[in-house]
Amino acid sequence: MSKFLVSRYSVLITQYYMIGDSMQEVDTQKIKAMLDQKKARMKICLAACASCSLCAESCFLFMSNNKDPQYMPSYKVVNSLGRLYKKKGKATRVMLEDMRDLIWQNCVLCGRCYCPFGIDIPYMISFARSILRSQGISGVFPHTLGAPEDESVDSQDPISP
Ligand code: SF4
Ligand code: SF4
Repeated sequence: MSKFLVSRYSVLITQYYMIGDSMQEVDTQKIKAMLDQKKARMKICLAACASCSLCAESCFLFMSNNKDPQYMPSYKVVNSLGRLYKKKGKATRVMLEDMRDLIWQNCVLCGRCYCPFGIDIPYMISFARSILRSQGISGVFPHTLGAPEDESVDSQDPISP
């Protein structure tokens, strides 16, 4: 087989698996159940956000990425967990995959973001990660930083619902 055919064949196989992945069913009941468990607290936090951007200055990823809004702590929460609550858990796989980089690659859960209203951004991002993981989706960490030594913090719930 020629090199061209081999490479074309590999591309087709890759595309086949990518399409297969994106068509995997999403268990919206499970997502809704997870959201409901922490609904009261999360809804208060989401509603309390005044979009003041004060947390942004304390996020080193935001500061080291030319203040790109996609690294702003509140942006990451509103566009992940906020979207899931808005949709009442009725997420599509494409929607979940869209959130992946936002909550993995754009955050290391360092806990440095300061919110004067006491909104716990890392906790909320960690919760959004748990929801995506429940659907078989997980992401990569900022390439230059690598993965934290113990990511188990992600699945821990320091405060009961
Ligand atoms: S999370 Fe807090 S600091 Fe950040 S934008 Fe919302 S209210 Fe402001
Ligand atoms: S926990 Fe995430 S959002 Fe907060 S400062 Fe660290 S990297 Fe930024």
